[in-house]
Amino acid sequence: MSPRTVIAGNWKMNMTPKETAAFFQGFFPSFSGLTSPELIVFPPSVSLAAALRARPEFPQVQVGIQNIYWEASGAFTGEISAPIARAAGATHTLIGHSERRHVFGETNEEVGWKVQAALAAGLVPMVCVGETLQERKDGRLTEVILEQLEAFLPVLTENPEASVLVAYEPVWAIGTGETATPQDASEAHGILRGCMREALGEERSRAIPILYGGSVKPGNAAELLAAPEVDGVLVGGASLDPGSFARIAEAG
Ligand code: PEP
Repeated sequence: MSPRTVIAGNWKMNMTPKETAAFFQGFFPSFSGLTSPELIVFPPSVSLAAALRARPEFPQVQVGIQNIYWEASGAFTGEISAPIARAAGATHTLIGHSERRHVFGETNEEVGWKVQAALAAGLVPMVCVGETLQERKDGRLTEVILEQLEAFLPVLTENPEASVLVAYEPVWAIGTGETATPQDASEAHGILRGCMREALGEERSRAIPILYGGSVKPGNAAELLAAPEVDGVLVGGASLDPGSFARIAEAG
């Protein structure tokens, strides 16, 4: 296991700047601070500034962007590059979230380019991998998640100092209320860790946190976080409520 516990919130396409400020006002009175996980929130990009304005009082929370484009600048209307996100104050970026892959058709190759672009700009990528229900039923869990991981591993080999996080998010558990069991999570994380160990060595692979994501809630966070090889959680729906996110952060 990685020595860090990371609790991340993916707000998806929710939270105006005003709601973002209100979230922070609600989160901190609610969070006991008895645990000290690394906390990262991913607001929509137009609410990034509001999150950063709220944050000086809460330096333990880092703010990331939900997606980047792989080119640094140019005629790509509607896209946000890694250097622009970094200059706007983001420290992290989600890459390859299942909604990006399945709704917007993002490919493994594009994920690799985005990881490269993030590292070049000084952003820490949190790269999501995970199988669909059909792929799991077909016995293709290992094949699918390793193909997704191997698409960006060469970028990590080329950047030996780079920080990165991996999130295992089975597609069938995202936003569905279906949660993988702690055993399911440990099994998938073990597969990912084994592959990273081979490619990057024991020490570096241990330093890369692997988060579980998929219908994490206050009621199941502790058992998931206690599972072998689970270094943190990436939370969607339950991260929108400051009280729920605080309870999950306390479980870490
Ligand atoms: C996510 O969006 O990364 C996620 C895991 O969503 P949810 O917690 O709502 O399943």
